[in-house]
Amino acid sequence: MTFPYYGDSPVKYQTEYLWFNTKKPRDYINITTDVDDILKKSGIKEGMVLVSAMHITAAVYINDAEEGLIKDIDEWLEKLAPFNRNYHHHRTGETNGDAHLKSLLIHHEVIVPVTDGKLDFGPWQQIYYAEFDGQRRKRVVVKVMGD
Ligand code: ZN
Repeated sequence: MTFPYYGDSPVKYQTEYLWFNTKKPRDYINITTDVDDILKKSGIKEGMVLVSAMHITAAVYINDAEEGLIKDIDEWLEKLAPFNRNYHHHRTGETNGDAHLKSLLIHHEVIVPVTDGKLDFGPWQQIYYAEFDGQRRKRVVVKVMGD
């Protein structure tokens, strides 16, 4: 069995955490600048960055930073997974069944390519943290990988 040889260019990693404690139960926060700051600090020029919510009632997604669209996303999620229904999950004493389902619809993580030290986005792409059961401390892991 042979192992990959990385020569003078080993893969480097930078891991940081972003913390949130939203005032509202549901919120959508643009974290593009925070992720870009972590990328710059890492010094990594080529690779990728993983941005992943560390909770089962939150999400991370990439889309437009446009107020109307954010309202549309929120209304769409509320239609598909309304708050305050009699979810089976509530038999555990919890009240956040809708937040788990909203998280599943959006998914919990994104990967962004890093090229020449920059987040290699197409036009209008921005990274958002979506909170579905907030008003408590929660976090996102940002892992930059490359060289
Ligand atoms: Zn729950």
